[in-house]
Amino acid sequence: MNATALLLAAFSIVSPNAPTPVEKNAAKELAHYLDMVVLNGKVSVGGNTNVAFHVGDDNFAVARGLKSSSFAEEEWAIKSFGGDVVLNGGGRGVFYAVSHFLEDECGVRWWKDDDEDVPDAKPLVLAALDRRGKPFTLCRDIYRGWGGRRFAALARLNGNGEAKLTKEFGGGFVYGPPYHCHTWDRYVPFAKYGSVHPEWFSLVDGKRIGGLIEGQLCLTNREMMDFFIGEVEKSVEKGAAEAKSAGLPAPRIYDISMNDSGNHCQCDACKAEIARYGLSGYQLRFENAVAAAVGAKHPELFFSVLAYGESEASPSNGVRAADNVVVKLCNTRQNMVEPIAGPGNEFMLKQIDEWGRLCKNLFVWEYATLCHPPTSGFPFPSEFNIVDTYRYYEEHNVKGYLVEMTHAVRSEVSDMYELKIYLIRKVMEDPSVDAKAVMRDFYDRYYGPAARDVYEARKILRHAFKREKVNLGWMPKFREFTFLDGPDLEAMKAAFDRAAAKVAGDAKLEKRVRLARGSIDRVDCVCRGWKIGEDGSQECQVSRDLRDPSWCFAFYGTFQFAEDGDLGGAVVAKSKDADGNKSLGLPFDCEAWDPVLKKVIKFNPIRKAEVGWKWYDFGVAEFTPGVEYIHLSRDWTMQLYLPPKNADALGGKKVRIEALLKFEGPRYSLPGDKSAVSVRNVRFTSVD
Ligand SMILES: [Zn+2]
Repeated sequence: MNATALLLAAFSIVSPNAPTPVEKNAAKELAHYLDMVVLNGKVSVGGNTNVAFHVGDDNFAVARGLKSSSFAEEEWAIKSFGGDVVLNGGGRGVFYAVSHFLEDECGVRWWKDDDEDVPDAKPLVLAALDRRGKPFTLCRDIYRGWGGRRFAALARLNGNGEAKLTKEFGGGFVYGPPYHCHTWDRYVPFAKYGSVHPEWFSLVDGKRIGGLIEGQLCLTNREMMDFFIGEVEKSVEKGAAEAKSAGLPAPRIYDISMNDSGNHCQCDACKAEIARYGLSGYQLRFENAVAAAVGAKHPELFFSVLAYGESEASPSNGVRAADNVVVKLCNTRQNMVEPIAGPGNEFMLKQIDEWGRLCKNLFVWEYATLCHPPTSGFPFPSEFNIVDTYRYYEEHNVKGYLVEMTHAVRSEVSDMYELKIYLIRKVMEDPSVDAKAVMRDFYDRYYGPAARDVYEARKILRHAFKREKVNLGWMPKFREFTFLDGPDLEAMKAAFDRAAAKVAGDAKLEKRVRLARGSIDRVDCVCRGWKIGEDGSQECQVSRDLRDPSWCFAFYGTFQFAEDGDLGGAVVAKSKDADGNKSLGLPFDCEAWDPVLKKVIKFNPIRKAEVGWKWYDFGVAEFTPGVEYIHLSRDWTMQLYLPPKNADALGGKKVRIEALLKFEGPRYSLPGDKSAVSVRNVRFTSVD
């Protein structure tokens, strides 16, 4: 008898009588995918047909000792008893049982929020099943901003950036209010208490300052500490109440970490503590005390703190984190193209070793994308190191991650976004994962017949970075990539040409290959420069095409891509709300910024707007050699970065800047109901 002859009956999915939201959702996902991958309902397990999938705490699972309460949180199991298959786990573990079943047994793959692969329908013939597991890492958050909850849950991530996992996914590893980081100013806002209790805030150059970005607290002020403890206790009550009304377990962790500022207190008492214990030790002594006070009433809770900026260095003189404190070590000094134990990462390696010994609960805040907007879509071959790095972390007591995988403009342009997410989530779940096998699985499934050529391009990239011994920080400049110009770039472009030819006609694969190529095209663009006029002028135009220098424009929040009717639908950058935004009024600014001299070069602002698209002349000013970008609008939300060749050509010269702009609406005393400013082109001309 052959296997298919056994496949006679359709399968069934059995849920408990009163399923919890996560049991219900897990069963729904199972049905959704089985409907696609199973041909005519034909399933066999261990030679048995008439297969029933029991999802969650139904009577069959409970009777066989597989009740959810018998599992650890997030633990999951897939076990067959003849033709009955139990999929269950602790808490959200039931969802993981289903996602493992779909991924490992049915071949479904989730790559990112809007991209998945589901195999063609065929009879599903499985051997007897008996698997059990639990994600190795306690907190697994690949920060994609407001990324979708469903993808996160299917990928078995238990953190999801700003969009917390809801009860249909069994909740997640969530922080209680007010936020997951930089919370000092949320507990003790300078805006509210700065005038009443100036002594609670950091003394900097003789002045008391505070605020999320501007200052810190005076940590040796006992009265402030008591107030702070009271505020954290209020947050804990609020967090428990909010969770209850959302049908979720109460949060287990609250953040009590420093503001995002380098202005630490210089009062005598704080200075003495910093000198004795180091900045991180000074902060930890305060944070340990807060955690001890609140933890006395709430022994189940954890309190997270940051080792960030200057406090990344571990403490001295015997300070260590209390057992209920989670230290989140930010990796802002890494060499992005080498593993943690490789060249350029000596500082972080030392911190991991030391912090790993000085605290029971160490988390890493890892940067998996380049975070300087103009270069955040540039190539860096970190995928070859990901598994080694995370494995090292996991061997050194790291129990959680927040992995930054987003940037201000367009997340998707982050280099090899899908592959890197795939590798990171796999190694977070299981440090013993076979890196080569995961990589091969990704390439074969994601690029199909183009896999070999895309991989070839990435190997060329890696070889070039190795040959040049590049130490690439998390916020690199354009000129750090120009070494790729020449044979490397040509070879990579040729590989991508071959890749594109192999998937021609398959829209899905064509798009994937194009995305993979984007970072290489952007380097190509930097090396080629912009459109050069007959008079030597250099011009850049807003465009969505990744191969244009369009990405030289970086806009944050205030501007977005739009299609302009007056220009026949051409792509422009248009302000979202010029009526409500102070910085977009007249006079409309244009300035250049030299980050080396930390100097602003001012051009003439526009004082009068005219109807329709017009070239506006911002006049002439001398560019310093280090000018990196110009910005239009006073809040610097529209920036235009200069590729190195252009900057070199203009540096030290008198330069005229002109821009093709359109103003509309009452803000500019022009026709239109709503005010807006749009940008199409910017031109630089040397007038020396
Ligand atoms: Zn102080």
